This record gives sequence, structure tokens and C-alpha cells, in this order.
Amino acid sequence: MTKLHENENKVDKKKLYYIETWGCQMNEEDSEKLAGMLENMGYTKSNVRNESDIIIFNTCCVRENAEFKVYGNLGELKALKKSNPDLIIAVSGCMMQQKGIPELIKKKYPHVDIIFGTHNIHRLPELLNNSLQGKSTLIEIWDAEGDIIEGLPIQREGDIKAFVTIMYGCNNFCTYCIVPYTRGRERSREPDSIINEIKELSSKGYKEITLLGQNVNSYGKDLNNMSFAELLRLVNQVEGIERVRFMTSHPKDLTEDVILAVKECDKVCEHIHLPVQSGSTQILKKMNRKYSKEDYLGLVEKIKSKINGVALTTDIIVGFPGETEEDFSETLDLVSKVEYDSAYTFIYSVRKGTPAGKYETQVPETLKHERFNRLVELINSISERKNREFKNKTVEVLVEGYSKSDESRLTGRTRTGKLVNFTGGDINLTGKLVNVKITEPQTWTLQGQLICD
Ligand code: SF4
Repeated sequence: MTKLHENENKVDKKKLYYIETWGCQMNEEDSEKLAGMLENMGYTKSNVRNESDIIIFNTCCVRENAEFKVYGNLGELKALKKSNPDLIIAVSGCMMQQKGIPELIKKKYPHVDIIFGTHNIHRLPELLNNSLQGKSTLIEIWDAEGDIIEGLPIQREGDIKAFVTIMYGCNNFCTYCIVPYTRGRERSREPDSIINEIKELSSKGYKEITLLGQNVNSYGKDLNNMSFAELLRLVNQVEGIERVRFMTSHPKDLTEDVILAVKECDKVCEHIHLPVQSGSTQILKKMNRKYSKEDYLGLVEKIKSKINGVALTTDIIVGFPGETEEDFSETLDLVSKVEYDSAYTFIYSVRKGTPAGKYETQVPETLKHERFNRLVELINSISERKNREFKNKTVEVLVEGYSKSDESRLTGRTRTGKLVNFTGGDINLTGKLVNVKITEPQTWTLQGQLICD
């Protein structure tokens, strides 16, 4: 593992940075590290793009739409750069790992100063210094993943909950996904580094940790001395941390020992995000997911029988190439059987560079949308019914502050990840675990009243 030495190049006067992030939690955590490095160099965070001295777009390439947005935003920056030639514009993230994209950006958006990828975010300070010395557009993309860089400074977004990446990359090669090509193969962090980071977070007052990885439960396969279940048990022992979550789990790697660890570790929340992607075995095969509908339902049964009150959430792709009405019915059937608490649903879109992008049996857009609407309706009705069961029940909530939608109410989540807005408390409860009686369950949120001891 490589230890990064603190960057000594500080800026002289107060300079502002602005980072816009697309994509998943891994990207969000990368942005927190980019922010940490910039703060170390003396920059200060700004929420206003147009008044900043450095703008970074940390991109995602999972969906084509997100890419179009990045191009649109880069186009908008042209005028800003013209009026402020000292402005530094940088683009990073998964999109830059795709062949041809950095060169295309350099050609079409010459006002961009720095282009870098997912494997070399630690190089930002040096790239920035080079750029400040007047070099033309710098492109630095590392094709292969190198060592895991430990010790990068990090400027976290919140002060109650924190993401901790425990592994990078993915070995699964699902046929619709670009991640294995942009984030590389699976590499686990050493357990000591993870535990030390969590202890430090605890000492700073953080209460909830989410262990992150593209395929989090295959953690440790490359280490030989630690499994994901063992890591969960270690994290559970860190004093001061009240809750532990993890995402994202691949069903084929969610082993019995992980289920037992969730059941037995008091801080590990009884919530498993278990992406199914489709309920049709033949579509799952085309997706290269390595489990059948029956395997998945068997796993769900095992989880429900072992973990009391467990909440299950999922990701589902609608309209994968070759999906017939019968395949889609299998998905609806699976959703009804599992009774997810909530689900992220996606309409399949072609990703260049993936095997599925070349499949010829693409589903027409109108059909995809029609199926998508039917699926969302079913999921919502299940969520609503499950939330209604909370009426008059008492739940434990980790308070995160005032609700953004109603500043007279506090907000937080249950152990199972449900959002609760409630009356009866004040901002001093932030970071505390409190009991709330649910008075009005809604489809997405539970409304309630604080129970005073
Ligand atoms: S498990 Fe599949 S969908 Fe998830 S990151 Fe890996 S290749 Fe992509």
C-alpha cells in the first residue's frame, strides 16, 4: 500500500473550489477526497460555481444521460473561462476511463485544463500545480489500477454519517455494466487501515458508517486473512459508532456467515440492499449475474428467516435487450414475493463498451417506459402498505438535523433505512438515537412524534 505524503503546496490567498459529482457513493467518496486535498492546499469550498477558482466535474458513465449532462455543463463553462482566464477546469471520474473520451473533451472543450481518471485521484495536487504553471490541457489517465492509496486527506460532507470504502473495483463483468472497465479489478483495503479510519471517525463524533464497495461482500477474497463477515464483526466493536451499514451486495456473494454477522452484530443494521436486476432467469443469464430467480428467492427466504424485521431493497433494470412480456412478468412476480421496502428502478440504456450494448434485440423505448411505469406502481404500493404497518409503532431514529422539506421537524432514519420526520425535539438531538412514535406513515416517509424518556 502506498502512503501519500501531505502536500506542502499551499495557495497564498483564499481561493475557492467547487466540485460537482455524478453517480454512486464511490464517486461521492472520491469527491470528498478531492475536496480534502484541495483544503490541504488552502482552498475553501464554494457552492457557487461561477465564483470559484477551480471547478471539478467528477463524472459517472453508468448512464448515457449523465454523460450528456457533463458535456452540456462543460459547454456552459466556455464563457466563464473567457471572462476569467485564471479559472481552472478539471474533469475526473469513470467517464474519463473510457477510451477516446479524454481526447474528445480536449478537442471539443479546449477550455478544460485537467483531465484525470479514477485510478489517480491522488495526483490532483501535482496536476493542479502543473496547470497553474500554464501548461495546456493536461490528460493523465492510468489504465490499470495501481496500489490502494492510503492516507489521502478527506473533507466529508456530513458529520454524523460517513462512507468508508473498503474495496475498489469489480470482477463480475455483468454485461450491462462499465464498472469493471473503469474501476478495475477487485482490490481490498487492509483491515487495519479500515478500522483505524473508523476509529478516527468515531473520535470526531461520527455515529454511522456505511462500508462501500462495488461488490462489498466479496471483500477480502484477495487478502487471504479476512472475510467480509469477519470485517463486519471487527467494525461492530469500534466504540462510539452506533450503526454500521454496507452496500452494494451481490446476491452470489451474500454468504451464510455474512447473514449471521448481520444477525449477531448489534450495530449492523438489519437492512440489506440486494440488487436483483431482473426476475427472469434467462435475462439474468444474459446479464451474467450468476444466479437464477429461484436462487435469489431462496436467499431472500434465508435472510428473512435469520434476521428479524430485515428490510430488503434492490435495483431493477427494465427493458434489458431481449426482455419479453413473460420475462417482465417474472420480475413483477419476484417483486411481489420479496416485498421490497423500496427499489431503485432503471430503464435499460445502451452503454458503449459493454457486451449488452451490442445485443441486437433492444426493447423499443415506449415498451420500456410502459413496463417501467407498471413496475414502479407495484413497488410503490408495496412500500406504502409496508409503511402503513408502522402506524402507532415506536422506532429508533438516528437524528441528522432539521428536515429540508419542513424546518420545524427533525429528520433521521430508522435502522432499516426509513426516513422519519418528527416533531417534539430540537437541533441538540443531532447525532443522538431517539425513539419516535409513528403517527402518519406515507409512501416515502414516516411522520412521527418524539417520545421523551
Ligand atoms: S457486480 Fe455487476 S453491476 Fe455491479 S459493479 Fe460489478 S459488473 Fe457492475
